[in-house]
Amino acid sequence: MAAEARHLLVVLGDQLDAGASVFDHADPARDVVWMAEVAGESTHVWSSQPRIALFLAAMRHFAHDLRQRGWRVRYTALDDPGNAGSLAGELASALRTLRPSRAVMTWPGDWRVKADLARVAAELAVPLEVRDDRHFYCGIDEFARWAAGRRQWRLEHFYREMRRRHGVLMDGDAPAGGRWNFDEENREAFGAAGPGALEAPRSFAPDERTREVLAMVARRFAAHPGRLDRFDWPVTRAQALAALDDFVARRLAPFGRTQDAMWAGEPWLHHSRLSAALNLKLLGPREVVAAAEQAWRDGRAPLASVEGFVRQVLGWREFVRGVYWTRMPGYLEANALDAHEPLPGFYWTGDTPMACLRETLAQTLALGYAHHIQRLMVTGLYALLLGVEPRAVHEWFLAVHVDAVEWVEAPNTLGMSQHADGGLMASKPYVASGKYIQRMSNYCRQCRFDPDARTGERACPFTTLYWDFLGRHERRLAANPRTVMQVRNLSRLGVAERRAIAERAAAIRAHGVR
Ligand code: FAD
Ligand code: SF4
Repeated sequence: MAAEARHLLVVLGDQLDAGASVFDHADPARDVVWMAEVAGESTHVWSSQPRIALFLAAMRHFAHDLRQRGWRVRYTALDDPGNAGSLAGELASALRTLRPSRAVMTWPGDWRVKADLARVAAELAVPLEVRDDRHFYCGIDEFARWAAGRRQWRLEHFYREMRRRHGVLMDGDAPAGGRWNFDEENREAFGAAGPGALEAPRSFAPDERTREVLAMVARRFAAHPGRLDRFDWPVTRAQALAALDDFVARRLAPFGRTQDAMWAGEPWLHHSRLSAALNLKLLGPREVVAAAEQAWRDGRAPLASVEGFVRQVLGWREFVRGVYWTRMPGYLEANALDAHEPLPGFYWTGDTPMACLRETLAQTLALGYAHHIQRLMVTGLYALLLGVEPRAVHEWFLAVHVDAVEWVEAPNTLGMSQHADGGLMASKPYVASGKYIQRMSNYCRQCRFDPDARTGERACPFTTLYWDFLGRHERRLAANPRTVMQVRNLSRLGVAERRAIAERAAAIRAHGVR
């Protein structure tokens, strides 16, 4: 590689898009692409092995493709001698050696990383140009303008505006099918017989480059949670496109109706499992949304399923990014419900008698994946009801899921799941008793607890903690029209029962569930 570079093109592990703004007006003959694997990004939260492996495998494939296309890439591998161990340290070393007149990057996905890299560039007096990320439909400034002056930020308002602005699922000025929202049709459980025969989603066997990464991760991060033996995520753009085709052809049609349902031993059900490829930027949201809409227009998938899917990608995904960048850096400290319990240790092992948590945690640790309702109404819900410090919950969610990047994980965890932002993102805390899990899954059939019981040895801990939560936050919930009915049910309980609930909840906090 030539000793010097005109511009240094900074490409992070979640920016694997050859069409990203960092490459605008770049010149392969004079500019150098900078990429670095550093241990610090795997240890600042205790990242799971599948998550580390996915990022590194995808980065190595991307760097290889860039070189094939004639780019000079300064790539630091994790095991390279002298690896500084942090993005800031590696960038400093590249700026000193290559002496570029400027560094350029696309807007990153993590406030901390952006601040660290900007600090290094400033210290070395190299201008750092941070360009907008065209991957997203909605720019950060555009979201800030939308949010300005609104007391509450509601997905539904934002989503309808995005549909109109980008002409997605529209027939002229009206929403396709005459409705914006098919949520009511998208909340079914599977029924006693379960989901029936499911076709496994397309799997991507690790190639030699990925196998090298898996071996290195197993060696370097042996003490980290998670397993690698089932690693089959798409790690290249071609694989990501194949995963999209597979979803649209085989799972989009049934996706909507049972979107919220869970079933033991079936991690994927009809979900797309595209979040990791999207968040690494191997896929763009426009091509994903267009493929789904086309399937409906061709009669290959019902509108309710397609709308349910589009709402997630064009709605929630864009919305949470706006929330993150509008509210950072303070957002990570939010703790509106004043929760201070530690995260139970079994979140890192899955070792608990509660069947729903045992199943969801085992799956999450083995695959780096849980679907939305498992995250919101099992792992997230238990932490919320128990009163775990939101920051600890955030660090766990960021560590264990392969699709976790802070811009998307933090608002989902702190805002939607833990209500730590006091209702900025979600109009009410998502709380339910074990009966919700019983209705939406078959987990309770394999559990020694009883979701109907609030107190006593066999009482479902979710149910006990749900009623305890209502009691602990009675005033706040009574003042919210969306939760007032839930709290009213509390008044039907006698004093003795309320005391028994509080005592059992306190015992669960003190001694765990045995
Ligand atoms: P599908 O169910 O097939 O949904 C389709 C796509 O919609 C997803 O691939 C994803 O890109 C998008 N999507 C769906 N829901 C959301 C959402 N709430 N926010 C943003 N995008 C969404 N998603 C992440 O990508 N990274 C995270 O770190 C993450 N952390 C979460 C933490 C909590 C506590 C909760 C409740 C949700 C979190 N989500 C996160 C959102 C959602 O759970 C995942 O996007 C989804 O489960 C990924 O699986 P899938 O690709 O099969 O999704
Ligand atoms: Fe989970 Fe309670 Fe059902 Fe057991 S009974 S699986 S703890 S919801």
